[in-house]
Amino acid sequence: MKNEAYLKDLEKCVRCGSCKAYCPTYDENETEAMGARGRLTLLRELMLHRLKPTPLLNDRIFSCILCGACAGLCPSNVDITEDIYKGRCILRQNDKKRRYLGNLAKFFVQRPDLAFRISQVLQYILFPYLSKKGFIPAGFNLPAAPFKDGQQVYKVSKPRGRVAIFTGCSINFLYPHLGMSLINILLKAGYEVVVPSGEVCCGMPLRTLGMEDEAREHAKKNVRIFGKLKVEAVLSLCPTCVLAIKNQYPKMIGKGISAAKDVSSFLLDKLDLHQLSLIAKRPATVTYHDPCHLIYGLGIKNQPRELLKTIGVNVIEKKQEGCCGFGGLFSLSYRDISNNLLQKQIKSHSETGAGTIVTACPGCMMQLSKASKDKPVFHIIELLEEAYCGSNEL
Ligand code: SF4
Ligand code: SF4
Repeated sequence: MKNEAYLKDLEKCVRCGSCKAYCPTYDENETEAMGARGRLTLLRELMLHRLKPTPLLNDRIFSCILCGACAGLCPSNVDITEDIYKGRCILRQNDKKRRYLGNLAKFFVQRPDLAFRISQVLQYILFPYLSKKGFIPAGFNLPAAPFKDGQQVYKVSKPRGRVAIFTGCSINFLYPHLGMSLINILLKAGYEVVVPSGEVCCGMPLRTLGMEDEAREHAKKNVRIFGKLKVEAVLSLCPTCVLAIKNQYPKMIGKGISAAKDVSSFLLDKLDLHQLSLIAKRPATVTYHDPCHLIYGLGIKNQPRELLKTIGVNVIEKKQEGCCGFGGLFSLSYRDISNNLLQKQIKSHSETGAGTIVTACPGCMMQLSKASKDKPVFHIIELLEEAYCGSNEL
């Protein structure tokens, strides 16, 4: 977005305040500048040169969790989250505080295999400390190997279709077993599955830090790689990745991965639901946690619930919906807000009396697992695999 177009978008705001209704950061701190309306006002004043960047102004813009809860509420169609990304890109130039975080993020996303190997070596010293500080769940360990190992093609006889998996960093390096669960389901459903080599981080950690040029390079690489594949869908277990590659890339580089789909909607559409209901083994009572980028960003609310009900799982709705406080790097930078949001969600889950929490995002899974002492937290794909393939011991 060029500066003129940017200012024009900021000026579309009529200051009605509707965007504050579900804003988690405003909910935590009822200061105008902690909600979308206030943040957009600050950015407009910045663009009109009536405000200068200060640490406080930067803090207000970088404390947005980018959950997107405000996005669909604006009657003037202000592209709120895009405006915040753009504002961060402008402010980042002089933000010393985030330089360190930016360099760290760049190292991790640009050399992920090296970062993984270093983390593997250090985890026995580092992870107990990080867990004590509340950054990761207690007892969390890295897997023995990442999910991806060059190009992988999983074949079936007489395939009904061909799909690709966009792995994303969290599945690749933290939860590879979830990627295997998805592959097992797809193979059983008769799909040939390709996991291409060369995929890079979707770029969102860089974008949230205002590193727009670097994020664009990631977008271009991914579009090039997935654009070559002849597949009917590109599936990801991470809603942030789907939101990025499908909806944000066109705004960043003019082209996205249009075949990208969230797994719940794809599987609900393609799996034999009758067969699922017949072989469901373990009826359970769960609460489902809506990942922000899935519900607000991609508009997917009913499909995961329908899938769970179809496999015989009893879903109890919690009273208070909301962000778990993860927000990628947000949980590192704004620990108090992140932790308060997490505690609210854990309380809300506990009040239902359900024994298990299910979500559809590896980031939410990591965050909820930090505070959910007595209830296991699963990704929906794990329950689906158990029901559909009967192979995963939960
Ligand atoms: S994206 Fe989320 S945290 Fe940011 S202003 Fe909108 S509702 Fe608030
Ligand atoms: S809902 Fe839209 S128009 Fe209303 S204050 Fe928020 S950004 Fe401005």
